[in-house]
Amino acid sequence: MYDALKAAPKNDVCPLCGQRTVSTLDHYLAQTLHPTLIVVPINLVPACAECNKNKLDYQPESEVEQGFHPYFENFDDDQWLYANVVEGSPAAIRFFVSAPPGWSATKASRAIRHFERFRLAGLYASHAGVELNNIRFSLERIAERGSLEDVRLFLLDRAESARRAYLNSWQTATYQALARSDWFCDGGFIF
Ligand SMILES: [Zn+2]
Repeated sequence: MYDALKAAPKNDVCPLCGQRTVSTLDHYLAQTLHPTLIVVPINLVPACAECNKNKLDYQPESEVEQGFHPYFENFDDDQWLYANVVEGSPAAIRFFVSAPPGWSATKASRAIRHFERFRLAGLYASHAGVELNNIRFSLERIAERGSLEDVRLFLLDRAESARRAYLNSWQTATYQALARSDWFCDGGFIF
């Protein structure tokens, strides 16, 4: 049962951060506080070591502090992860949570707590920085042959492709932010 639960996520990706590889099972309700739930399968969530550590023995004291349960709740019914471009040399990406209008205040608070508890801003900013470096050559080539709008179209295409794969991924938020930024499309990627 342990192995089956651990192997459940698609591509072995941790459902808490959506980025790192699963390496353990996390107790949704902390094992030190709920010892009777230690081996109950529905209390065991696949996680990467870092997310498991970030949550260690965390005990929410109210509903708004309760993290997502990746199997019994749907937090991907709408987009909540967004980003902005930080203009500089090199450019950087800053991530934030913006709850959809249809969400309750409690659900919105929980999304923010989740984002903070698992330190997703830093994790995603680091990966987005690598991605910016990876696409720089392609963007320079597109800009040489075309215009700012051609760069934007390329970025919009990448954003849509990432969105179709996973609505709340750092890639979706990153490419949306890049495509929105006139500064970036107009050569901000060159450093
Ligand atoms: Zn994780």
